[in-house]
Amino acid sequence: MRDKQPAGITILGATGSIGISTLDVVSRHPDRFRVVALTAHRDVETLAAQCRQFLPRYAVMADPAAAEQLEHRLRDAVPDVRVLAGIDALVEMAGLPEVDYVMAAIVGAAGLLPSLEAARKGKHVLLANKEALVMSGALFMQAVRDNNAVLLPIDSEHNALLQCMPDGYTPGTVPPGVCSITLTASGGPFREMPVSKLASVTPEQACAHPNWNMGRKISVDSATMMNKGLEVIEAGWLFDLQAENIRAILHPQSILHSMVEYTDGSVLAQLGNPDMRIPISHALGWPDRIVSGAEPLDMAAIGQLQFSAPDLERFPCLALAFDAWRAGGTAPAILNAANEVAVQAFLERQLAFTEIPRAIDYVMDHCDIQDAGSLDAVLGADARAREWAKGYIKSAPGRVVGT
Ligand code: NAD
Ligand code: MG
Repeated sequence: MRDKQPAGITILGATGSIGISTLDVVSRHPDRFRVVALTAHRDVETLAAQCRQFLPRYAVMADPAAAEQLEHRLRDAVPDVRVLAGIDALVEMAGLPEVDYVMAAIVGAAGLLPSLEAARKGKHVLLANKEALVMSGALFMQAVRDNNAVLLPIDSEHNALLQCMPDGYTPGTVPPGVCSITLTASGGPFREMPVSKLASVTPEQACAHPNWNMGRKISVDSATMMNKGLEVIEAGWLFDLQAENIRAILHPQSILHSMVEYTDGSVLAQLGNPDMRIPISHALGWPDRIVSGAEPLDMAAIGQLQFSAPDLERFPCLALAFDAWRAGGTAPAILNAANEVAVQAFLERQLAFTEIPRAIDYVMDHCDIQDAGSLDAVLGADARAREWAKGYIKSAPGRVVGT
């Protein structure tokens, strides 16, 4: 029996794929966790249902009109839930004194300020929002160090890498005895499609990931392999590694989630079914192991695991991300912003799939790289890159056809 009081948790992005999986794990451990705050962008229906089930003290909608609707919905059913709106309230939820754990699962740059606040307030930061780290890695890792925050990656690859690091390892420090890490990537839905057909793929095809059920933005990122590119940068910050010590390989089964190579030639890997409740449980339970609800891994049924090198002609986004990591400063923030705008345009059928890397390349060519030592510098680079990307999209040759 645990004798401790349940720990308070805020879930930023509660209505998304990671948020829903987190609540699933939390619901299995009422002795460990008490939900203090749930947040979302504008999905009133889902957040209202979550509030009825988990009775948080606060519910926040980034969108004020959605917050009004939520308040109306909850008034009679659960009047004790305080409904708030806007970015300031999101940031406040990440720093509440009664909160020990913050699941940072907002998608994209919108998650930067609340994720950073969790680090600044010394929380257990369960980081799914990789874009925050990509944009502002130096500031983020400094905030973690300065405030003794506990940074636990949720991305399955980085969570796997952490599990394979030496005993007592702390993210943000050089891992002793490690010479390289290898991130695995499924290759997404277009891994085998003829390259000549990629220009006409639709958002529906891009979002139909073979192994993982995820939000739309990360699904498109997986299809372009920008997801792996962002993860290279994320790994660089988390494990203090240079580009030449980070590899990415294709592994279509998504069973082996990444590996760490040591100087003696030993390679440690973490395996498991492709179910995000596994890394989420690792981070929620750390340093203990807790039940996740995932199916046990049946290797005999899987039969074989395959690995191959990614084809950079098919996946130019991966090379663009390596270039941005090598360039340093605000280059990753520029890359991330251009990618977010291009992916959104693709999802809205304003841009062809194969134009996504071209848009990013164009923006990288037109934006100056600066030192990323202040939040103003990072946010300024993000804003300028978005303008350049929108300019490119207006004149881009390819749009999505068909439905
Ligand atoms: P999703 O689209 O399913 O959910 C995103 C969540 O963020 C939703 O709750 C949404 O309401 C909220 N949100 C969106 N825009 C917002 C805004 N402007 N302000 C406030 N809240 C906003 O996305 P997801 O798949 O859950 O991914 C979330 C994060 O986790 C992403 O950074 C993604 O890269 C990362 N991640 C996801 C997976 C996965 O399996 N889904 C795996 C690894 C990493
Ligand atoms: Mg991942």
